[in-house]
Amino acid sequence: MIIRISSLNNGLNQWIEKYNPVELELDADVFNNSIRIELEVVKRSGKIAVTITPVTTCTFICDRCGEEFNENISGSYAVMFIQRESPLPDEMPGDDLRTFTPGQQELDISVEVRDALILGIPSKLLCKTDCKGLCLNCGVNLNVSECKCSENKTKE
Ligand SMILES: [Zn+2]
Ligand SMILES: [Zn+2]
Repeated sequence: MIIRISSLNNGLNQWIEKYNPVELELDADVFNNSIRIELEVVKRSGKIAVTITPVTTCTFICDRCGEEFNENISGSYAVMFIQRESPLPDEMPGDDLRTFTPGQQELDISVEVRDALILGIPSKLLCKTDCKGLCLNCGVNLNVSECKCSENKTKE
């Protein structure tokens, strides 16, 4: 995703863009809906502060029951671009401080959008907080039906 520097006004700029996850090199199995990105860009002399808030609906596989479920994911990422003659030697996309050079036309923030979304994915993926999961004995999805395993066990 690209911000054209010449299209920015001095001070606050705010707009919304929609992106296809494939354009941002996101995993299409998980990111299978368009991504809405709120941008807040503050341009001052020699500095451009960019805050992005991407929102989308993902499809995940539940860690407990193995069923697919959809969940809204949102993230936020702030990066400051500072005008310098050349980038710092160890500068990388995804750093909090980046360089733009005097003749530069565009800021590429694809990595920031991607990172914001990936950081927004919960570490534990559950279809619902009280997902009962699968019976370890017979494999029945306990959210959908009960199985007889615990009954049989108590009889033994
Ligand atoms: Zn589940
Ligand atoms: Zn069972």
